[in-house]
Amino acid sequence: MGMKVMKFGGTSVGSPDRMKNVVSLITASGEPTFIVLSAMSGTTNSLVEVADYLYKKNPEGANEVINNLEKKYAKHVDELLSTATYRDKTRSFLTEEFNYLRSFTKDLFTSFEEKTIVAQGEVISTNMLVNYLQEIGVKAVLLNALDFMRTDKNNEPDMAFIRENLTRLMDENQGYQIYITQGFICKNAYGETDNLLRGGSDYTASLVGAALPADEIQIWTDIDGMHNNDPRVVDKTEAVRQLNFEEAAELAYFGAKILHPTCVQPAKYAGIPVRLKNTMDPDAEGTIINNDVLHGKIKAIAAKEKITAIKIKSSRMLLATGFLRKVFEIFESYQTPIDMIVTSEVGVSMSIDNDSHLNEIVDELKKYGTVTVDTDMCIVCVVGDLDWNNVGFETLVTDAMKNIPVRMISYGGSNYNISFLIKEEDKQRALQSLSDTLFKA
Ligand code: ASP
Ligand code: MG
Repeated sequence: MGMKVMKFGGTSVGSPDRMKNVVSLITASGEPTFIVLSAMSGTTNSLVEVADYLYKKNPEGANEVINNLEKKYAKHVDELLSTATYRDKTRSFLTEEFNYLRSFTKDLFTSFEEKTIVAQGEVISTNMLVNYLQEIGVKAVLLNALDFMRTDKNNEPDMAFIRENLTRLMDENQGYQIYITQGFICKNAYGETDNLLRGGSDYTASLVGAALPADEIQIWTDIDGMHNNDPRVVDKTEAVRQLNFEEAAELAYFGAKILHPTCVQPAKYAGIPVRLKNTMDPDAEGTIINNDVLHGKIKAIAAKEKITAIKIKSSRMLLATGFLRKVFEIFESYQTPIDMIVTSEVGVSMSIDNDSHLNEIVDELKKYGTVTVDTDMCIVCVVGDLDWNNVGFETLVTDAMKNIPVRMISYGGSNYNISFLIKEEDKQRALQSLSDTLFKA
């Protein structure tokens, strides 16, 4: 039997009270558990600010942010810890940490220093948690992520290194109830401190879960799992109980912010279920992401705004080879990913969400045909088991869209998604109508 990995985000450990709440969650089962922790909320942003000041050669600005953080943490220590031994221990750790941060305000500043500064949020939060656990008598140990989390020369996780070194550390530290490590931070292929990009703690949890391997990876946030539609836009959304890994991957693009997009990959390859849970409501079921397919079931609706549609029409496309390649090369040369795409015999329409090179792209496309651009568009997608052998879902979904002008429809790219491109101003109406049609009781 493997253990569970539990990852807690910044707001879940945003205050000493919340941290104590987390402790009751992680010790409840009494079983050995592996904890991945983010920085306390706001800290990473403050550290990014410190780095920005230093890039701009403004050490006073940086020092002010550091001093404010230090004051905040001094209070946290008083609220979190109650014995002189652990308070002193944590205080001297924090003094060292903040002096270390201040040491960067004197020298030449590079991206290496930036990464090191930004890493300190997780270094601090995990240290505070392990000290608190030890103070209340829980057998807890902190494993330094920088000793086993590593990326390769392509900035991809070096799974073999991670597995080998995490296994070694677990062997060297047998018999603990709680194992803790820092989310987000890692070393790169050159042994320098680096990170897995903002929000990367989910990714750490997935990598740790795959490397151990764990029975289950739990991502604890402050939302009740993944919802079947956007609760800010639509009435009566519900938490989705179960998602297939593929469905979760489709939804990640649509900014289902609860889960970092890359997070699911290692868990998926290792076949380890990922459970999304709510720290505010720990008894709520949340969402489980695994390999199960619920036959014919539509799970969720999501939307993404600020989409631009580009159509290129050319009689030269008719029966021609190499036309699409030329079109794609133009997008590639401007590093602009294409999201949706539909073709006919004489034209192709594509959607992009990054329009920073729109003018250049359009100019080049004009060499190949007539170009039309529609801005302020929105992709609406329906996710579920939409295997083409299942019948009826297309009719159901298009029926829900019957009063909405639709610019593009895309189906068949995967078995799990059907997407519509509509005007942003129709988004609310479309989402509500889809919810009413697809999820009526
Ligand atoms: N602390 C990092 C951030 O704020 C990583 C994370 O929380 O996932 O992005
Ligand atoms: Mg997050």
